[in-house]
Amino acid sequence: MVRYVCRHCRRSIGEFVGEWTDPQLGLVQLSSEDQAAMIEFGKDGTVWVKLLCDYCLPVPWIDDLWYN
Ligand SMILES: [Zn+2]
Repeated sequence: MVRYVCRHCRRSIGEFVGEWTDPQLGLVQLSSEDQAAMIEFGKDGTVWVKLLCDYCLPVPWIDDLWYN
């Protein structure tokens, strides 16, 4: 299970049932530095991905993102 949370306000952005290494998510393509900054591995096996939500990020919401 992969859960996306806003690293600013802690709001839940989305979740993905599967591995964080799924190519669909694009996380494996990040540099190891970016992965270390964005990804947190929970004790229960949940992988947390820290992003900015649409309220905290000054860019328009992208409608075709998979987690909408
Ligand atoms: Zn936020």
